[in-house]
Amino acid sequence: MLVNLHADADAAHTERSLRGLGLWTQRLADDEGHIRSLRIVAPSPPISVDALNAVPGVLSVLSTQSGHPLVDAQAGRPVVVGNTQIGGEQPALIAGPCSAESAEQVFAAAEIAATSGAKILRGGAYKPRTSPYSFSGHGPDALGWLREAADRHHMALVTEVMSEYDVERVADVADLIQIGSRNMQNFALLRAVGASRQPIMLKRGRAATVEDWLLAAEHALDAGASQVVFCERGIRGFDPSMRNLLDLGAVALLKHVHGQTVIVDPSHGCGRRDLVSPMAKAAYAAGADGVMVEVHPHPETALSDGAQALTADELRHLAKQIGVSV
Ligand code: PEP
Ligand code: MN
Repeated sequence: MLVNLHADADAAHTERSLRGLGLWTQRLADDEGHIRSLRIVAPSPPISVDALNAVPGVLSVLSTQSGHPLVDAQAGRPVVVGNTQIGGEQPALIAGPCSAESAEQVFAAAEIAATSGAKILRGGAYKPRTSPYSFSGHGPDALGWLREAADRHHMALVTEVMSEYDVERVADVADLIQIGSRNMQNFALLRAVGASRQPIMLKRGRAATVEDWLLAAEHALDAGASQVVFCERGIRGFDPSMRNLLDLGAVALLKHVHGQTVIVDPSHGCGRRDLVSPMAKAAYAAGADGVMVEVHPHPETALSDGAQALTADELRHLAKQIGVSV
């Protein structure tokens, strides 16, 4: 937004008034060095044109349209997922294995998740793997195991779809459709999933700005998605001591400035089991509506991401610490 000042305005005084409203400003001067305009810049909170016009010294306000009106319109609304929701009073706990490896493994993980208080089961049937030689999921069979496990415990199910060709199959079993980090800007996939009219969990791309992320959600909503929940899972950092750089500032921004429903995935964020609980607690402090964590009945045998999978005891302990009721 751009605030133009009256010719005789005391620019410093107007700027102080704007800052008093919590706004951050940048001065724009003419060739002679006179401040004629003030730009409202990030991280300013949202403010109406009327409120700006009421500030002494303001001549006019130029408001650029938000590029993501559908995202803005879902602000403040919890995301409904099957028989539960993310957002509102209760912290959401989503838990389950990284990959659905066998019916037995999925049932055991679901039991651990449910008895810890998770209302949403996670698990991958289609796995995006950096190496083509890594385990990439059991596909349709795994979808069946996941749905059966979720039903046994009256849980909702979130699972990832990687390809437009599998959207219908995944939408048939999932209550929340996950778009993974690597696909955040796969616009054809976003639109195909949106057309299913289901809610979407949009994981942040590892090199995506918050604006890229909001605009990706806009694609899905424009295509028909009922709602989008944002999932921060870390961005690519320079430090190899953790898998990713978990950006909790972005979580606070999405929650407190954009009013969005947002969860955090500390498992992929850190890549190490010992840091999952502390970062899950930090996520809530930053404003997250929930956390999604990986859990495995026997992490040492996991076919993917064993190093970051919590054990049953660790998940129960975390659930208690964050006040999730069973
Ligand atoms: C996942 O949650 O299973 C996953 C693969 O995460 P990400 O897309 O964040 O890497
Ligand atoms: Mn994983």
